[in-house]
Amino acid sequence: MLGDAELQGTCHCGAVRLTLPSRPQKATRCNCSLCRRVGAVWAYCEFGTVTIHGHPENTDSYVQGDRTLRTVRCRTCGIVTHWEPLVPNSDNRHGVNLNNFDPSLLAQVKVRHFDGADTWTFLDEGAG
Ligand SMILES: [Zn+2]
Repeated sequence: MLGDAELQGTCHCGAVRLTLPSRPQKATRCNCSLCRRVGAVWAYCEFGTVTIHGHPENTDSYVQGDRTLRTVRCRTCGIVTHWEPLVPNSDNRHGVNLNNFDPSLLAQVKVRHFDGADTWTFLDEGAG
């Protein structure tokens, strides 16, 4: 069983702390030009349900081209913690990098491989 502590993650230096509303059922590893560099495993959560301390005061962010998302990293240690929509009402989700959490959490989550580089489909699932 997971305790609340396992729903809490931090960047490497601890300046940014995140608390998930519940244990994610699924997460996504994506091979797009950004995600493959970050190396993140994303859990998608409804925007506003993740408690984030130290953001934006301890973070910097990056907006890729004309995308609608902002990728957020710790200003001190550089670890990517999450992404969020630039305009929250246009996309109700944001992504949390599960690599910032205890490995026991990630071990219990089904990680899907998303082909963001090319087909925009999941490589390890059938239709849907
Ligand atoms: Zn940090």
